[in-house]
Amino acid sequence: MSQLTVSLKEKVEKFLNGKKHLYINGEFVESKSQKTFETYNPATGEVLANVFEAGPEDIDLAVRAARKAFDEGPWSKMGSAKRSRLMYKLADLMEANSAELAQLETLDNGKPIRETTNADIPLAIEHMRYYAGWSTKIVGQTIPVNGPFFNYTRHEAVGVVGQIIPWNFPLLMAMWKLGAALATGCTVVLKPAEQTPLSALFLAELIQEAGFPPGVVNIVPGFGETAGQPLVDHPLVDKIAFTGSTEIGKMIMEKASKTLKRVTLELGGKSPNIILPDADLSRAIPGALNGVMFNQGQVCCAGSRVFIQKKQFDNVVADMAAHAKKIKQGAGLHSDTEIGPLVSIEQQNRVLGFIEKGLNEGAQLVVGGEKPQEQGYFVSPTIFADVNDDMTIAKEEIFGPVISALPYEDLDELINRANSSEYGLAAGVWTRDIANAHYIANKLRAGTVWVNCYNAFDAASPFGGYKQSGIGREMGSYALNNYTEVKSVWISMK
Ligand code: ADP
Repeated sequence: MSQLTVSLKEKVEKFLNGKKHLYINGEFVESKSQKTFETYNPATGEVLANVFEAGPEDIDLAVRAARKAFDEGPWSKMGSAKRSRLMYKLADLMEANSAELAQLETLDNGKPIRETTNADIPLAIEHMRYYAGWSTKIVGQTIPVNGPFFNYTRHEAVGVVGQIIPWNFPLLMAMWKLGAALATGCTVVLKPAEQTPLSALFLAELIQEAGFPPGVVNIVPGFGETAGQPLVDHPLVDKIAFTGSTEIGKMIMEKASKTLKRVTLELGGKSPNIILPDADLSRAIPGALNGVMFNQGQVCCAGSRVFIQKKQFDNVVADMAAHAKKIKQGAGLHSDTEIGPLVSIEQQNRVLGFIEKGLNEGAQLVVGGEKPQEQGYFVSPTIFADVNDDMTIAKEEIFGPVISALPYEDLDELINRANSSEYGLAAGVWTRDIANAHYIANKLRAGTVWVNCYNAFDAASPFGGYKQSGIGREMGSYALNNYTEVKSVWISMK
């Protein structure tokens, strides 16, 4: 286990010691029920903070505040340039508090401080800036219709949006949701995951400081059934954007259909990561390994099915295992930690359960597979070899640091097998052959294909799933469509 703990910032200590309120209509308030819930430090299992728990009554208040801010203004009536400036201001405030946000995120989620510092927080800030830029650039069309008419389209904000996010990238997921919604002029009720509410609540303070009008963004930590579901059911909500498990995503879609809300879903995956025989193995092996180990494997697009050509299989797996043994595991706040604990004891047990299934179904455990210590929710980096397509660990999303290595013989068999998943979120290909790279990229049924890289992200590039990995695209100009209605206006010129 790694050492060298980063000491906590004064502002973080103060935040942790203060009350954690709900943020509704521009104010920090207690929950109507007065109920609170605990959030834990995954590295130690100790309670980090008590947070007021939003229930149906609080959700109703938050939705009504968002409705008022949308219907009566000022948000919907504010010019797009002014909205844009507020978004830039929020990004600047996030930047000024980036060390604090990084520490809070690491404390609450467990992920390494080097990742929150170099990935989560800067990506979150860039995301807000990217959409602040879009705010002034959303335009319709003028359409040359038949007859004496002038016809044009308006891209109008969809209205009040309920956003439900997961615990794996708490602040970044909040930004993925808020960016496009605010740029288009929507108002928002955001429910963070119950495991990781802290960075969103810190963000609420920055939203208030930036000067967003009351009701534009409401942040309501709570549980799925008692806070998430009332948001999905609420008749005054126009749209639900959800990121989480495929199981809950399906349920949300069904419930949202009762009021025909617009729904976008970003769900699970079981992404193939393909090493072709001509790949530069000095990049492909650590690349494929990191494609799973990043964020302790708790990434919806983790390349958890690693396909390796039969002739190279044993060598590649042995080399990958040697790399895996060198990964520094420890508490996220240690500055040299490369892999931290999983987010919760439930997640740790779930992942250990999958490892046991892998063993029982006959996969060969090459490295890891254990809980390295009693304290905290750690699972060591794990590689299974000789996995076949029918095994549970080749089919189901594990959401942990577990690689299933699968041997293949030829290219067409490989593509069929890579596509034979109910998911279609992402895929990776490692090759020096540019024709094969494009051929495979075209054939794979996945929303993102990375060639000679993995987990590359940019606010400007879309992300989302084929098949049961989701509906709609986040990021880039594509996400704006999720938050706008198109209105066709006809003016008679006679
Ligand atoms: P995980 O299993 O990884 O925790 P979930 O899909 O259960 O993923 O959770 C993702 C988000 O969905 C969290 O914010 C959670 O509280 C919320 N959620 C869970 N169940 C429901 C539900 N029935 N209705 C609405 N939101 C829910």
